[in-house]
Amino acid sequence: MDHQHAHGFDLQTRLRERERADLRRSLDPIEEVSARARVADDSAGETPSFDEERLVFAANNYLGLAGDERVATAAAEAAREVGTGAGASRLVVGDTPAHRSLERRLADEKDAERALAFSSGYAANVGTITALDPDVIFSDELNHASIVDGARLSGADIVIYDHCDANALTEAMADRAEIAEPDDSWLIITDSVFSMDGDVAPLDAICEAATNYGAWTMVDEAHATGVYDGGIVGERGLTDRVDVQLGTLSKALGAQGGFVAGDETLVEHLLNAARSFVFSTGLAPPAAAAAERALALASERRDALKTNVERLREGLEAMGYEVWGDTHILPVVVGDREAALALDDRLREDGIVAPAIRPPTVPEGTSRIRLAPQATHTAADIDRCLAGFEAAGEEVGLL
Ligand code: PMP
Repeated sequence: MDHQHAHGFDLQTRLRERERADLRRSLDPIEEVSARARVADDSAGETPSFDEERLVFAANNYLGLAGDERVATAAAEAAREVGTGAGASRLVVGDTPAHRSLERRLADEKDAERALAFSSGYAANVGTITALDPDVIFSDELNHASIVDGARLSGADIVIYDHCDANALTEAMADRAEIAEPDDSWLIITDSVFSMDGDVAPLDAICEAATNYGAWTMVDEAHATGVYDGGIVGERGLTDRVDVQLGTLSKALGAQGGFVAGDETLVEHLLNAARSFVFSTGLAPPAAAAAERALALASERRDALKTNVERLREGLEAMGYEVWGDTHILPVVVGDREAALALDDRLREDGIVAPAIRPPTVPEGTSRIRLAPQATHTAADIDRCLAGFEAAGEEVGLL
């Protein structure tokens, strides 16, 4: 080997640096996707050793549909009748009845002319933003990483506005208008429900700002799809005012994949120009069929989720915990990272999986436990979680 040159990658050093910055992650295997599951703590061994069953409050399987027998049957039937994989890009020979049927159902759900399924929500965001190729993107500071990545890859000028602050957005648009070319294309992008804060974007005001400047709006409903009828956009009657409605099939719908809904021209453009659609194998037919079945079942699970969310929020607040947001995602904000980690550890000992979220994922001083109850938790499960928080909070000195 020529020792004067070293053109490789020193990944050990990079991993050590991550470790020093407390940013190194590891995998904790879980046995099944369910509200109650056995979770292995130590992934270092080749075969995970699962210990006792725990209550899972960490998944985005909000309606519990990932474990529903009817959804599983739909996936199994599609696997047998259509294929386990699409076998090709949708544009080649991968456009199966499972895709077409799902897309009709999604368009219906979103009250849109047409929908297009992607292999993930991540791929949907990156593909859609780059295919729109905007000159300027206005983006909420807490938007999901897949929006951030799509925005960067698109090469647009990115203007980040304060979280959920429509006034800040309006000011940023006014500032930009002073230097903008008359035919610049502007895209405002926001999550609807924010995953770490459990709050909802001020969509009415955002649409208003968009109308004032003739900009387009794109709303990522990843955490709202299935949980709200037609998403937050649908619930608030804003379907006609949101140009690009995006969602995922992999959270409340318990399947896998992402989608965009909008008008015919938008979807025609995306299926031609979104590289993550064109150059990627079509969504797996079992995932498409599972998502379609889950969409039909979502409404029957919503009340149970709502009941669990209310019971949990009220119980935590009665103990004196600070719970942010106003959705099915409950961030229990405890302040410093050590407190959040201690709570996480103590809850785990009590059989409750509820992850500590710390900087840099969230701002310093707002470390939290992110609680995501599921429709399939029982009242006793919720009470066990509350009892865990009471005992842990006292032990850690938070209550
Ligand atoms: N958007 C948001 C807001 C998300 O939270 C996520 C997933 N964490 C995605 C998009 C990506 O979706 P998927 O997991 O289907 O790739």
